[in-house]
Amino acid sequence: MSENCIFCKIIKKEINSNIVYEDNNVIGFKDLNPVSPTHVLFIPKKHIQSIDHIELEDSSIISAILLGISKYAKQIGISENGYRVVSNIGKFGGQTVLHLHFHLLGGRAHFWPPG
Ligand code: AMP
Ligand code: ZN
Repeated sequence: MSENCIFCKIIKKEINSNIVYEDNNVIGFKDLNPVSPTHVLFIPKKHIQSIDHIELEDSSIISAILLGISKYAKQIGISENGYRVVSNIGKFGGQTVLHLHFHLLGGRAHFWPPG
């Protein structure tokens, strides 16, 4: 837990969110400002700032996030067409919330390169 971290507050249910996935280590909740028909943020319950701050001991948590994404994508039926997973890191990556999160974007085609 990190004081004043908005995603830690979502985990502790101190602020409302639309949680669509949960296991021991991970929650997935709908992004407040979706950019795709499916836009869900998958985050560790442990406060980790970004991919750049992952330690070896966090390996099982990171696996759980990716497995959760894949499981949820199958559950809602977006696997066949495919989807995108993005994690922004730091200033140049465009990260605005400093709690590790993976955007799951689906339900439309996504293009490359991103902006
Ligand atoms: P990033 O820019 O990669 O750090 O992504 C942060 C994401 O968190 C943005 O897509 C925001 O729309 C989303 N976001 C911020 N606050 C909330 C919230 N309270 N509930 C759901 N999504 C949020
Ligand atoms: Zn946090």
